[in-house]
Amino acid sequence: MDPKEFFKFAKENNAAQLDMKFCDMFGTWQHCTYPLDTLDEGVFEDGFGFDGSSIRAWQAINESDMIAIPDPNSARMDPFFAIPTVSVIADIYDPITKQPYNKDPRGVAKRGIEYLKQTGIADSCFIGPEPEFFIFDDIRFATNQRGAMYEIDSSEAAWNTGKPELAGNLGHKVGYKAGYFPVAPNDSLVDIRGEMVQLMRELGIVVEAHHHEVGTAGQCEIDMKFTDLETMSDQFLWYKYVVKNVAKKHGKTVTFMPKPVFEDNGSGMHTHISFWKDGDTLMAGDGYAGMSEMALHGIGGIIKHGRALVALSNPTANSFHRLVPGFEAPVTLAMSQRNRSASCRIPMYSTSPKAKRVEFRTPDPSACGYLSFTALMMAMIDGIQNKIDPGEPLDRDIYDMTPEELAETNVAPTSLGEALEALEADHDFLTAGDVFSQDMLDSFIEYKRAEEIDALRLRPHPYEFDLYYNV
Ligand code: GLN
Ligand code: MG
Ligand code: MG
Ligand code: MG
Repeated sequence: MDPKEFFKFAKENNAAQLDMKFCDMFGTWQHCTYPLDTLDEGVFEDGFGFDGSSIRAWQAINESDMIAIPDPNSARMDPFFAIPTVSVIADIYDPITKQPYNKDPRGVAKRGIEYLKQTGIADSCFIGPEPEFFIFDDIRFATNQRGAMYEIDSSEAAWNTGKPELAGNLGHKVGYKAGYFPVAPNDSLVDIRGEMVQLMRELGIVVEAHHHEVGTAGQCEIDMKFTDLETMSDQFLWYKYVVKNVAKKHGKTVTFMPKPVFEDNGSGMHTHISFWKDGDTLMAGDGYAGMSEMALHGIGGIIKHGRALVALSNPTANSFHRLVPGFEAPVTLAMSQRNRSASCRIPMYSTSPKAKRVEFRTPDPSACGYLSFTALMMAMIDGIQNKIDPGEPLDRDIYDMTPEELAETNVAPTSLGEALEALEADHDFLTAGDVFSQDMLDSFIEYKRAEEIDALRLRPHPYEFDLYYNV
């Protein structure tokens, strides 16, 4: 769609407003809405001005003017406005230099794909994520400004505390860790998911399946068909927007936080990745699990840089409550065919070479898609360029290993602090080709340390009262 076609599209749909959206460094969509009759095609060149100092970890107050230039190709009718509104995703630019802003995650994905082509390795990188999320009935106490505790008002969540007596009537409810995947009425969320999927389809997203997940307290998964990295990163934001807004319409709330409920499964975002050239996959071959030498080196890159990668694919303090044994989430950076306790699984469902791909199981949906997917691709590029050996496959149940055996493996970071340290020490694979800037990584790390790690460290945790009140 060019700017002319954009206005035609808006007119055909009777749109009265343009909603401009862009993504911050932490994967959250921001937006501003403009009556359409004030705009002309020039807006796709001049963009919209906004205050870059009010966006987390972006600009200082004395250099806060930034511009957001909408991408006409991203135009879609937004399903959640009362007044017909066309939505466009914007790229961020510096108004003085007219250069793309180095901390704009969408720009990182664009530069990443250009870099992949430049290396000559491949011309496309396909991404298929499997985001999981919880649908809760409502939140009884919201966190107050200073972060006071809140409680999730869900009888299903109460069941998960290990105190079933709190859950009341258990008829037609999902049993502990038994959400995967009995039919309705146990799966009471089938129609809400159906509505979410229908809206996604109207937005041009190809959905392959939706189902209840293992988690008792209303955990769900909707799977999009794989597509190129840039499109998928945009789609992932539409996905979260649709899921949260449909839930809200039904008086429910959704969280993509990776571990909302103690002792239940967490929410992951397994990410399937493959490199292609001239319409053919580069992943299939006659190596381990039917992989090509290139694919195995790519896995070598993921494993080598895995600890740093986690800072971008699992970027919240909460992420590390999920990466523990016993809940189908990986704890070690190793590869395996079929093994769901390894971080890099080679799915063996299909014998078609075109279906060959790596499933990186560590990521979670608290990540910014642009950054998480691009970082994963960059780790694979580095592995391929440097012919990195992925090591021996770990084809046994990792949860069965003794602590000593586990310590011999390449263990994933166990806290956000560890992951950020790993990123600080190992990021040349990300700054290659100026795909990620040092400035962006520094701001990301500084923000996470101050606003999340320290913020949590300063607050006594409710469970400390259990442990220490009577000391
Ligand atoms: N929820 C699990 C995770 O945290 C995955 C479960 C599954 O999809 N098999 O990764
Ligand atoms: Mg799945
Ligand atoms: Mg799943
Ligand atoms: Mg999976």
